[in-house]
Amino acid sequence: MPRAARITISLPALRHNLQRVRALAPTARAWAVVKADAYGHGLEALLPALDAADGLALVEFDRAQWLRERGWSKPILMLEGAFEPADVELAARLGLSLTVHEPRQIDWLSGLASSSRLGIHLKLNSGMNRLGFAAFDYRAAWERLRTLQSVAGITLMTHFANADLAGGATQALATFSHVTQGLEGERSLANSAAIIDWPGAHHDWVRPGIMLYGASPFGSRSAASLDLMPVMQFESRLIGRQQLAAGDAVGYGSAFFADRPMSIGIVACGYADGYPRHAPTGSPIAVCGVRTRTVGRVSMDMLAVDLEPVPQAVVGSPVELWGEQVPVDEVAASAGTIGYELTCAIAPRVLRQVFDDGAR
Ligand SMILES: *Cc1c(COP(=O)(O)O)cnc(C)c1O
Repeated sequence: MPRAARITISLPALRHNLQRVRALAPTARAWAVVKADAYGHGLEALLPALDAADGLALVEFDRAQWLRERGWSKPILMLEGAFEPADVELAARLGLSLTVHEPRQIDWLSGLASSSRLGIHLKLNSGMNRLGFAAFDYRAAWERLRTLQSVAGITLMTHFANADLAGGATQALATFSHVTQGLEGERSLANSAAIIDWPGAHHDWVRPGIMLYGASPFGSRSAASLDLMPVMQFESRLIGRQQLAAGDAVGYGSAFFADRPMSIGIVACGYADGYPRHAPTGSPIAVCGVRTRTVGRVSMDMLAVDLEPVPQAVVGSPVELWGEQVPVDEVAASAGTIGYELTCAIAPRVLRQVFDDGAR
């Protein structure tokens, strides 16, 4: 018998979310960001619906190679670019576009042995101070790239640190337009938050990640309010039930005490499945379609839920950890993190299935 913990991936939801990107940024092309195995959803399962994207963007070269072998013939963008010279050779062979964010990567391009030409995304550090050329180095990098035989075209690129905050992209946008003024080439700036809130940042290529998966890029706006549909449904079942008397404790460390008689259910899902261990008592969860709360500490293979709102629950009853009824963002907020981290953390042992309604 397989364990009950499983995720179901909804391709109709993914198609819907991609349509949302199109509606919000109608004149831009879209790189669907699929790093980290499509934010933990499983890239392979999503491919049929990703056909509607203009390209795929990720950071893992082995996955890019796999995509080509699997027949993906549209553009692929490597968001962190080459990590070593061999990556440039591989990119040339596979027809991958490379982000260039530091001088060494230009050296590698100038030493490219093959006669192939690569699309380049030249990254400006517009304030995040993670990757990218500083404003005063950017034009020189652009000039240098332009002289290279191996460079087919240069897209001007940056990544926002704060597009999810009110006014948070203003400074970065100003820096970007100032630095790139008069430089020819397409432009790519917008992540999910900027696609939704910063139309002035859309330009030629947008780069949606989290919104494709139906979670919110904003701390204080729900995915539903943005008309996004959850792609991942994380479910399991009750495998036990306990009747507690007032004063009884639950789980390791006796982190929860019943203050009155109560029924609790034991769910076959724990931190070894990807449910966050630091989710405290009170985290939202649904049993038999009814929202309730977790109680006590999450253990490796199990967690406990309050059955008071669901007296009909029995061993075998269905549980939703997150998905349609309990947005992943709500569980994340309760656990002090973001939806991105939770979907990325789904463990290999969790069963995966794909739902498609047959639409194209
Ligand atoms: C991950 C990533 C994105 C997507 O960000 P979301 O917030 O998930 O939309 C876009 N651009 C770059 C460079 C990234 O690394």
